[in-house]
Amino acid sequence: NYISVNKLSNLLNCRSEQLVEDLTGLGFANVTQNYILSREYVELILQEYNYELPASRRLLNAQTVYDELKSPINPRLLNKRPPVVTIMGHVDHGKTTIIDHLRKSSVVSQEHGGITQHIGAFQIVTPLSKRKITFLDTPGHAAFLKMRERGANITDIIVLVVSIEDSIMPQTIEAIKHAKNSGNETIIAITKIDKIKQPKERERALERITADLLVHDIQLEQVGGDVQVVPLSARSGENMDLLEESIILLSDVMDIRAEDSIKIAAEGWVLESQVKKSVGNVATVLLKKGCLQKGNILVCGNTYCKVRNLLDGAGRPVTKAMPSDAVEVLGWREVPEAGDQVVQAKNEAQAKKYNAKRVALLQVEEQAVNVERLNLERGIKKEEEEAQDKDVNSEANSDSKLGIGPKKVNFIVKADVSGSAEAIKESIAALGNGEVVCNVISSSVGFPAESDLKMAQITDSKVLCFNLGSMPSEVINNRKGVDVRQYNVIYKLIEDVIQILTDNLEPVY
Ligand code: GDP
Repeated sequence: NYISVNKLSNLLNCRSEQLVEDLTGLGFANVTQNYILSREYVELILQEYNYELPASRRLLNAQTVYDELKSPINPRLLNKRPPVVTIMGHVDHGKTTIIDHLRKSSVVSQEHGGITQHIGAFQIVTPLSKRKITFLDTPGHAAFLKMRERGANITDIIVLVVSIEDSIMPQTIEAIKHAKNSGNETIIAITKIDKIKQPKERERALERITADLLVHDIQLEQVGGDVQVVPLSARSGENMDLLEESIILLSDVMDIRAEDSIKIAAEGWVLESQVKKSVGNVATVLLKKGCLQKGNILVCGNTYCKVRNLLDGAGRPVTKAMPSDAVEVLGWREVPEAGDQVVQAKNEAQAKKYNAKRVALLQVEEQAVNVERLNLERGIKKEEEEAQDKDVNSEANSDSKLGIGPKKVNFIVKADVSGSAEAIKESIAALGNGEVVCNVISSSVGFPAESDLKMAQITDSKVLCFNLGSMPSEVINNRKGVDVRQYNVIYKLIEDVIQILTDNLEPVY
């Protein structure tokens, strides 16, 4: 069950250089075109890089079936809407503190004496200009990765936090890259200025950050660029109002608008979803366009909803949601998936029809992919036979081919932030001995997605979750029978991995 990268690229109909690059991106070390891949990895690559198969291009059909329901753009209905803002930056540079500070001044919080639920986004009204801003409060969430994969960009503005003490760090650079790729406008928030009180010293630190950002092609206003910078302290609240007004200023320059009429089909994205004991299936929807009201019909994924109620961040009913609002939507047949798009249908009959159409398309596509897979397997078999003919006397590779060498136990790591995902990957990858070793197939941020579970199933991996909070029950009790484990303390996780490795040792009699 082995195949070379070169041959696989032939079968996949892609350039071998591209495949080498993709594999390196997936974490394979020292890959060349002659690198030999095992069946297990080929499966993985097929899962991850479905797009390389002609059939998978057709997968887009099922995802875009709801496009037919959308209304054509009507410029006359375009009205200003609040900007949607994501806060990004290196770990510990102050994202959470800024969000907590903003949340305290949120519309809902002020009306309800601070009692707010976590629904994935919240809105504030700026103190001076009295304008609304929507903040997404869990930007590292799996839903956002999914939306990004689908080319959806729900954010307008990224506030990039940089601690005055540290200047830019690896995740700052990651965030800069992301901002550039997604075409978002950026504002720089320099945080923790209360930590450097001496004016000269503060000045020097700010200059250094300006220079560091310039290296990464972020040109602040101070050096003739157009990126605003706000030095602030989220702890004392100093200049937080300035940050809010800077966002409004930028949003005016961007002239952010959406059609907000009930005449057009509402569109939005699911930020979070869950089953609530008292009310049933609930999804937080960030509305992109239209005007959502009770009684509207929505389709999403394989399910639909007759909107029974709309709730704000305090769990209080609201009559409607406008573009850039995030509301909890009640009345779903089944829980929709976070990261899926929501589109309004005319009536229940139409919603059911489109749900069915999507399911049918998915089945067709699945079959098409299976056919491709079968062809590929035939290709692999042929390659194997050829290789056996050639290698009959060569012993160079025979160790690995016979499966000699340490036994690999596979894991998939999911964590709350990429920093901890990396840290866990590194610490457990070092575990094991000459007989059994840890093999981390992937490590990423957010709840295990369907694709993670599929990958785990194929590679017989256990999924290790770190600091993810309460997990959707469909993940824990997944139908694939994948072992998903949760931890809040790293050493517990490591202890458990050691136990699993030990269990995998051959018994000695
Ligand atoms: P995150 O990882 O980016 O979300 O960072 P946090 O918001 O959790 O902040 C990391 C640490 O820095 C926490 O201990 C915060 O209390 C502290 N911190 C955040 N902002 C400020 C600030 O403006 N001033 C000071 N002195 N400390 C801050």
